[in-house]
Amino acid sequence: MSLYQQCGLKYFLSYIDSWREPPTSALAGGSITHEVVEYLYRLEPAERTVENALALLREHGPRMLKQTEYLPFVDDIKMKHSVREAVENLFKVENPPEVVVQPEHLEMELNVVINGVNFFGKVDRFTVDGVNRVTDYKTGKSPGRFIDDKLAQPYLYALGFKTQYDIDVDEVELIFLNAQEVVRRPADIGLVTSMGEQLATMRANSERDVAESAWDARVSRLCDYCAFQKVCPARNPDAPQPGSTLCDTQLSEAGLLHK
Ligand code: SF4
Repeated sequence: MSLYQQCGLKYFLSYIDSWREPPTSALAGGSITHEVVEYLYRLEPAERTVENALALLREHGPRMLKQTEYLPFVDDIKMKHSVREAVENLFKVENPPEVVVQPEHLEMELNVVINGVNFFGKVDRFTVDGVNRVTDYKTGKSPGRFIDDKLAQPYLYALGFKTQYDIDVDEVELIFLNAQEVVRRPADIGLVTSMGEQLATMRANSERDVAESAWDARVSRLCDYCAFQKVCPARNPDAPQPGSTLCDTQLSEAGLLHK
């Protein structure tokens, strides 16, 4: 949803034409961190120590780095340092033995139709300790003023919980491990409902774009980080028609992968 709102053409190339960037070290590091934190919270509360977390990192980090997509980062010391920092920081932003969580509430799948849109999500953690809270861990930088964009995801999870399980989520939480920031917001029903409406609007607009074969290339400062610049008519006057064979060829040559 956020990608569509950022740039329609980028959304088309990513989700309709199915191109993606090769895995990055940030993605590898984020996946390893999530795995370690999940296994940590599967332990009994008293066993959730820093030492055990680092032992889990030593166990699961090398295993995950053997996966084909992460193999290029097997010697990436900077990434490994960042993952260790994220795991250690978990103990600075919360006290894991005190977190009340059931194993079935870790990596919980949501698969539900919201306002006519098929919605699938994996919720990092759902806790019930007087407050029903949906938590998502993030690695990398602090979101700064873009925090509202990041909150759209847990608000939609809250709506998913209500729609699929008839559970009212009271609060959403984002834990930025490397940045040592915890952001909590009440799952205000107005906001949650509005996210569902935004999702339906986004879906309707993207269906219109598919029908018209017209995608809005929305130039912004984020274009500087866009992997599709070479094939984007808004950035490159010689760009081929998006979706054409020539476009595919240029994206392949640029190292992008076709799903
Ligand atoms: S370069 Fe900018 S306008 Fe072009 S596809 Fe990427 S984000 Fe969109």
